[in-house]
Amino acid sequence: MLKSFLKDLFDLLYPPKGECGFCGLPAEDSLGCGGCLELFRDYRKQEFCRKCGKFIYKENVGLLCFDCGNELPLFSFSRAAGLYEGVVKDALYNLKYTGRRSLAAPMGQLMARSVLEDGRYRSLEVIVPVPLAQGKLRHRGFNQSGLLARELGKWLKVRVEEALVRTKDTDSQAKKGRRERLYNLQGAFAMAFGQDLAGKRVLLVDDVLTTGATLNQCAKVLIDHGVAEVMAVTWAAGQDAYEILTGKEEGL
Ligand SMILES: [Zn+2]
Ligand SMILES: [Zn+2]
Repeated sequence: MLKSFLKDLFDLLYPPKGECGFCGLPAEDSLGCGGCLELFRDYRKQEFCRKCGKFIYKENVGLLCFDCGNELPLFSFSRAAGLYEGVVKDALYNLKYTGRRSLAAPMGQLMARSVLEDGRYRSLEVIVPVPLAQGKLRHRGFNQSGLLARELGKWLKVRVEEALVRTKDTDSQAKKGRRERLYNLQGAFAMAFGQDLAGKRVLLVDDVLTTGATLNQCAKVLIDHGVAEVMAVTWAAGQDAYEILTGKEEGL
């Protein structure tokens, strides 16, 4: 009671500066409202696959998710700022399809927090966004992963290079199964003309990790061209397939 009175008084004296870019509620912080920032803090504390960064809810989990247990990806590891659902999913949709480019700033900043809190990223030297196919780039006008990469570069003080190009449009990935996706992605990426990152430790940036096939193909091209190590970070990641297959999700 007293608390809410004080809050009202506080709001009256210091009106909220803006809206949360994720949920639309009033927000004091330009990064987001209290509720959303807490959600992202929770995601940073949640169990995750030590390879691909997918979220794992089970107790007594191993270090790897079901997919990585079957076949290890070529990148060293990846982390995600949040689980691909709710405001995390909405933010990416709004960035990609409703043209709200301003969302890239808080999204990139939150990804930077995940990177900074994880000591494994300490040695990274160059940031490389996962490229978009030319047709899609023309249509959308921007590469969402490129925008996120630029924000990350700003916060991590690391240079960003558009070192990869997409040589094949892999449009309907989402409708395909894992095996088909992998096949579909083969030869989809190449080094951009004049780019040489041999010997460097690279951070790949993508918007969402579902199976990790896209990041894996990008990592392959970089490693084939002499890159010393490929790490990755994504805005969102899915959940351990084991939990989806067996329905052993939290709260079920
Ligand atoms: Zn919010
Ligand atoms: Zn994994």
